[in-house]
Amino acid sequence: MVEKRIFPGRTTRCPSCSHEVRYSWLSGMSGSHLHFYANDSNDVLLRAGWFAHLNALVAQGVSDAVILAEIDILLASLPPASANKYSVWSNVKCPNCKNEFPYRFKKNLKLRLEDTGVILIEGCVLDSDNGVFLVEVESTGLKGA
Ligand SMILES: [Zn+2]
Repeated sequence: MVEKRIFPGRTTRCPSCSHEVRYSWLSGMSGSHLHFYANDSNDVLLRAGWFAHLNALVAQGVSDAVILAEIDILLASLPPASANKYSVWSNVKCPNCKNEFPYRFKKNLKLRLEDTGVILIEGCVLDSDNGVFLVEVESTGLKGA
């Protein structure tokens, strides 16, 4: 069984279908979070060590192609069930219509890697260095009753 964790969050509306989406986020708790979203769900992969490794490559001034190849190697090092699950350009999706939400750093690899905002959509699985958790978002009541 996957441990459940409750995060305080908010709601937004899907731009495609207007479905109400409950979400939370992680940011800047312990420096940058290199994170990947799943291709077919909102599951999130967080690996702190990967960020240090890729950041060192960025500091060396290597090309995006080299960094993308390195990301492929890192993702391929995951257990088989996860190896093909995540990719660098996947973003969070509406749980109702499955349309991907717009991503402001699409195709800008440097900004993508530096993006510290990790979005947790209600019901996603967070696979982190500290374990795997099922995310439950508790609305903080910023909406009218
Ligand atoms: Zn939708």
